[in-house]
Amino acid sequence: MKQIIEVSQKRSVRIGILWIFIAVFLVVGLVATPPATTNSQGKLPLGVPGVRGGVVTTSEPGAAHVGADILRAGGNAFDAAAAVQFALNVMEPQSSGIGGGGFMMIHLAKQKDTFVIDCRESAPAAATPDMFTGVSFGVRSTSGYAVGLPGTLLCVTTALDNWGTFELDEVLEPAIDLAANGIRVSSRLEGSITSSRLSNEMGNPAYDEARNVFKPGGVPLVEGDLLVQPDLAATFQLIADEGLDVFYTGEIAEAIVNTQLATRSENPDGVGRMTLEDLANYEVAIREPVEGNYRGYRILGMPPPSSGGLTSIQILKMLERFPIGDESQGYGFGSANTLNVMIEAGRLAYADRAIWIGDDDFVDVPSTGLLSDGYAAERSALIEPDMCMPDGTVEAGDPWPYNSGDSKGKPNSAKLVDEEGRNTTHFSIVDRDGNIVTWTSTIESGWGTGLMVPGYGFMLNNELTDFNSTPQYNPDPENFNPGANDVAPGKRPRSSMAPTIIFDGKKPVAAFGSPGGSTIIWSVANMAMNLIDHEMVVQEAVNAPRIAQTSSGVNTRRELGFADEVIEELEGLGETCQTFRSPSVIGSVQSVVIDQRGHIQYGAADKRRIGGVVSVRRDEIAR
Ligand code: GLU
Repeated sequence: MKQIIEVSQKRSVRIGILWIFIAVFLVVGLVATPPATTNSQGKLPLGVPGVRGGVVTTSEPGAAHVGADILRAGGNAFDAAAAVQFALNVMEPQSSGIGGGGFMMIHLAKQKDTFVIDCRESAPAAATPDMFTGVSFGVRSTSGYAVGLPGTLLCVTTALDNWGTFELDEVLEPAIDLAANGIRVSSRLEGSITSSRLSNEMGNPAYDEARNVFKPGGVPLVEGDLLVQPDLAATFQLIADEGLDVFYTGEIAEAIVNTQLATRSENPDGVGRMTLEDLANYEVAIREPVEGNYRGYRILGMPPPSSGGLTSIQILKMLERFPIGDESQGYGFGSANTLNVMIEAGRLAYADRAIWIGDDDFVDVPSTGLLSDGYAAERSALIEPDMCMPDGTVEAGDPWPYNSGDSKGKPNSAKLVDEEGRNTTHFSIVDRDGNIVTWTSTIESGWGTGLMVPGYGFMLNNELTDFNSTPQYNPDPENFNPGANDVAPGKRPRSSMAPTIIFDGKKPVAAFGSPGGSTIIWSVANMAMNLIDHEMVVQEAVNAPRIAQTSSGVNTRRELGFADEVIEELEGLGETCQTFRSPSVIGSVQSVVIDQRGHIQYGAADKRRIGGVVSVRRDEIAR
């Protein structure tokens, strides 16, 4: 744990008029993405043009403009991140918001300090390990008991109070304006509005609440329609006027507790177990990132309760002995050798993830062992570039001897069903002083539970379905399972979210993350390899097709863009080995990179969603 330190003098800056420009901009729908070309300046190849006033990258261009305007008004990365988060609640309500949680990775430039504010949703005091057992994902994830204690607002205020320079009401102002006066529905929002997760329990007022906003009169809003959210605007105004307490102990807390009492008709036991006391007791945690070296760079990643940092760094460490970037040795981007060793490393790492990783405030997670050189070498030795481990043979290893000495027993081989949502959002911001925020923010599935807090206009998450639905704990030394991700009161469910910062020595050179459930780990690993091994400029690194092997089994996810003959070659390695799913989109990476020699900043956003980058020149900043 790290002490939060007061570093900033609050100053009051009124910025209201800027939001009129933002609203005009959104209606016109422009996206400003700087072109990326090769540049040999820094150690990491960079895009041009770069800036020195800050860069904001989000999956919704309008939210990037909100953040950039805060930077232009003299705000720092923490002010901008707060405003972006609230704006995304308005513009991407299906993905994140104050009814959810996430992980905010922070780099303080002056203090040279990097850490995480963990505002992951936690389980209420009345949660039990078997509460979800036997209920299908579709039903349990849309019942009130899937709602975890929401943390996003506390992430915002923790960052703002400690490192920001704007007041809470000031960073809420653009979102209030956008919600009250309306935004144009984006193509992505249109797609989400037709999702089946917004069609449960027709006629039940608890589930109709969200439909009334996004399908007024039963007619789904489509791209270009004006979406006005007066309840959400009023909620943000209430928080602006009364502060944090109205959410955790006041009228909004009461409304949240009442809303999660709804459940699906086929799941009468699925009423929420959250109480006002749970909400009043909710806390964020300030955590040290996990760290690993990869080809001379330091990779800082998300610690437990996320598997994001441990599993992505484990994959990279297992791959380090292969000349991934070198075509002359038969590797290089998209080659059969490269893809095969990536897939095999993924199978080993995800076997470990399934057994060992959970909330380490509750269970012993062998983080040191998982990231140790010795364990990486032991696991990597199982990988052959031109062979694959037959399906059914990849087991979790035992990192404990590399951690604190004693093995806990022979790990069992639990096969967990992958049921994480893929609708989260990620944004990255660097400011003129080099402070960084890279934040993955979520309500878990698209639209969370599908429950909108009546009269308050925000969705409630279904994050508790990221716990094991069937308890896994087994003390038998011949079939050991720590139950690392079993439900427990106050515990946070294991995540895959992976805000990541790459350092060259002490200096941050790239920050990124992605939505995508268990594929997040792969979007991050692909990104690190694209930058470091394949020396791509940042936009190219974001654009390049990705693969994701998210279990110890076979059946790799891939995007369009890999050569057919490579896929065929890999599938020919053996009948019980690699198979590939039909191509589908993986993740949505938002990244900033920094050339530390000239303090020049670059950004890239992902066109797999809409993606917006706004760069700020120093001479645009008010003061
Ligand atoms: N709930 C997931 C996690 O914590 C994220 C879901 C998503 O990416 O949409 O890892």
